[in-house]
Amino acid sequence: MEKNIKIENPAEPLIFERSSAGRVGVEPPSFDVPDIDDASLPEGLLRSDIEGFPEIGEPETVRHFTRLSQLNFGVDTGFYPLGSCTMKYNPKINETTAAIPGFAGLHPYQDESLSQGALELISELEEYLVEITGMDAVTLQPAAGAQGELCGMLMIADYFKGKGENRKKVLIPDTAHGTNPATCHLAGFEVVRVQTGPEGVITPGCIEGLMDDGVAALMLTNPNTLGLFEENIKEIADIIHAKGGIVYCDGANLNAVMGLMKLGDMGIDVVQLNLHKTFSTPHGGGGPGSGPLAVKKILEPYLPVPRVVKEGDTYSLDYNKEKSIGRLKAFYGHFSVMVRAYTYIRRMGPEGLRSVSELAILNANYIKERLREDFHLPYDRTCMHECVLSDKFQNEHDVTTLDMAKRLIDYGYHPPTIYFPLIVHGAMMIEPTETEDLLTIDSFIDAMKSIAKEARETPQLVKGAPYSTKTSRVDETRAARTPVLRWRAQ
Ligand SMILES: *Cc1c(COP(=O)(O)O)cnc(C)c1O
Repeated sequence: MEKNIKIENPAEPLIFERSSAGRVGVEPPSFDVPDIDDASLPEGLLRSDIEGFPEIGEPETVRHFTRLSQLNFGVDTGFYPLGSCTMKYNPKINETTAAIPGFAGLHPYQDESLSQGALELISELEEYLVEITGMDAVTLQPAAGAQGELCGMLMIADYFKGKGENRKKVLIPDTAHGTNPATCHLAGFEVVRVQTGPEGVITPGCIEGLMDDGVAALMLTNPNTLGLFEENIKEIADIIHAKGGIVYCDGANLNAVMGLMKLGDMGIDVVQLNLHKTFSTPHGGGGPGSGPLAVKKILEPYLPVPRVVKEGDTYSLDYNKEKSIGRLKAFYGHFSVMVRAYTYIRRMGPEGLRSVSELAILNANYIKERLREDFHLPYDRTCMHECVLSDKFQNEHDVTTLDMAKRLIDYGYHPPTIYFPLIVHGAMMIEPTETEDLLTIDSFIDAMKSIAKEARETPQLVKGAPYSTKTSRVDETRAARTPVLRWRAQ
């Protein structure tokens, strides 16, 4: 028999396809109450379309889901340089504290007198975030960054309503994360595009020309999504404030500035943070996350209720805030994420958090400098925590950013963010974070250089990637536009 016969690893079937009639995973004990006739139940409670439900034994169920989990890529499997997403390592001590029974088993309806520890943690975490951002007050209620944005914009809308001013426009730079314009639209505002200047940052002149008394706010990200620091921020904030506007900062990129500068000092009035990015809590797969919102005094009355308040040594929840936008989320937000972020902050301390940002910046610049001969740099400047490259050199060989991103998978890396920000053609946005060691970063750089070489010498190889995965290239547009969410028996 021929040796080395390649055995194709079949794709994992759907669990429905493994089903065979009559098989069960668990056998509950028989009922000790009399069976009732279906006819006596209200029709709406009866299931009619249970047909095709998978019938499968316990070992095969476990194997199916374990195999699926092994097809996944996570920050615990390898380097994950996904720009704008801060896929940093989540220290396991965060999980240990989140699993402390007093926290993990806490019921949200438990009496305040029995929840003092949790309320104290919420209150202290708010204080730490006030200190880190240089703002005046924080709510931990929003479930993610995008909901933090919505919280902020709803508060801004109420703020102007309260003043009797009709301001409907929000200025948003063209490098903005997609959630920014979406948020403004949801909150009833109209988006006005701000064009990024030639240096990759917005200019006071441009803001001056757009700002008038119909503008409610400027919503910008600093550092922006090109990984560049908005160096004119104070001057720009002054222009907005002079005409009565609010400066909103998308703070999802806080990993670059912790301990180095305070957003509050730059003229920012309101900022959302992403605990699941900057503060090392798990991230991806749809949550749960946490997107606290930090505000200056003028917006504090509008924060969602309940607020945690302290009198003497006792903590309680205050629902009585006349100007509050109300409740944004069931209960108080994602508490277990808060425990993880609290643990991280306490473990790092102020110097530790500062060195996080310094190292994140150093790593990104190191990658940028070592790759500058192989990849085009659309904005050739010192960057913050992420760098943006493009596929301009590789286009000569008909190789694109998508091809190279797919090829990186074969080298064992998660691809960077691609085709974002939109203003860079064929963008590759690389954010290494501070948690990677030099060996990992150097290996990634070697892989990128090797792919650049392949693009020159064997472009077809890159264009066919990936070769190491169960499926190669899926139709991403169709997968997103016409998803198959329900399986039906044939
Ligand atoms: C991740 C991110 C968001 C959205 O945060 P979610 O927690 O995913 O809702 C918004 N803005 C920027 C710049 C981001 O990187």
